[in-house]
Amino acid sequence: MGISVICTGTELLRGSTVNTNLAALGKALTARGAKIDAAFTVGDRAEDLYGALADALKLSDCVVFIGGLGPTADDLTLPCAARFFGLELRQDTELTAKVEEFWARLHQGRCPKNQYKQAMLPEGGRAIPNPSGSASGIEFSGSYDRRMRHIFLLPGPPTEFIPMVRDHLADRLLELSGATEHVRGFLAAGVGESFASRLVEQSLGGPDPALAYTANFEGTRIYVCDADPAEAERKFAVIHAALGDAALPEGEFSLAPYLVKRLAQRNLTFSAAESCTGGMIASAVVDVPGASSVFMGGVVAYDNMVKHELLNVPAATLEHFGAVSAETAEAMARGVAAQLHTDCSVATTGIAGPGGGTDEKPVGLVYVAAYLNGKCEVREFRFRGERDAIRQRSTAKALLLALEMLKSEGC
Ligand code: ATP
Repeated sequence: MGISVICTGTELLRGSTVNTNLAALGKALTARGAKIDAAFTVGDRAEDLYGALADALKLSDCVVFIGGLGPTADDLTLPCAARFFGLELRQDTELTAKVEEFWARLHQGRCPKNQYKQAMLPEGGRAIPNPSGSASGIEFSGSYDRRMRHIFLLPGPPTEFIPMVRDHLADRLLELSGATEHVRGFLAAGVGESFASRLVEQSLGGPDPALAYTANFEGTRIYVCDADPAEAERKFAVIHAALGDAALPEGEFSLAPYLVKRLAQRNLTFSAAESCTGGMIASAVVDVPGASSVFMGGVVAYDNMVKHELLNVPAATLEHFGAVSAETAEAMARGVAAQLHTDCSVATTGIAGPGGGTDEKPVGLVYVAAYLNGKCEVREFRFRGERDAIRQRSTAKALLLALEMLKSEGC
């Protein structure tokens, strides 16, 4: 059956908008044991939409269009998709009421004519509810190359697209594609992709095309896919064991959610003192729903004055060892835990660059500290890369060090 996706929007090609919708759909399908077979990105031009649809239909019977359902002239998805299959567009009564109601909620006066583009349905088509926007999604079927094809049109704004995927599209695609893959996976924390793949291949006795790896600053996500659930289970167990302490439990793909879960299970509270990461750790933790049960807060202690006055880092430590030092990192971690009364904390201090480096303390030198119930661990890192990469790596190492401390203290 197969699933292809056509992402529309010149802004996606120019790079001014990142294609987060494709990633969200890919993740939602993977979590359900299905996958996207191919994806196309095209600008807002009718001939490009027709070309992409013809290519997609060579590979797949289900095609999802993302974007181009608005009321403006460059929103061409619905007329192009319907014309491709020779289907007439008709104004739908229920969608007309929805469009008018949506308009009246946000504007004064009569609903303009062009808004009614969003009340049109192709013959035999049906609407996919979109509670957050005026453009409903659309599903319709059409015959192409002697087979019935299933076409889905969804609006582009991620705040509309992502809930529609979660509440409707992903399950519907699964139903149609009859996916049979069993996917199991985990994060190999702090492990690079090539090292992870080498360990995995050794443990399985050779490369396996049914494995997928995605690396990021936190480590490598490893997915085992197999049509046979027992085989997926067997390979998962072998690989998970091969990664040893670096392997997070099954289904855990990010450090912050796992850390929040571990802290919550042990009734431990958490705080962060951040210099070079400037709030990235706090942001990663607050991104996790339910973080309030463990996270007390953080201090962005960029200047020495803040390190000293808010975190009680001794002036002598700052003067003698410098702001970027193991001693300062430890004092920051202890200081924030004391000030915010938390059981556990982390701290970062480093030189993110591009300026500010010296021979002794070059760009990329970062100290990360983690504190737990009176004990503190500090690590020195010499990261390569640009400012953002150094800050992201520091954030990941801080979360990882906190997890390591929890483990070593039996929490
Ligand atoms: P609207 O009614 O708001 O015009 P639409 O369905 O016509 O919705 P687009 O105009 O294509 O959608 O896109 C609306 C917004 O969503 C734009 O800001 C666009 O950059 C963003 N967007 C579109 N496609 C994607 C995508 N694949 N990933 C992330 N953002 C996207």
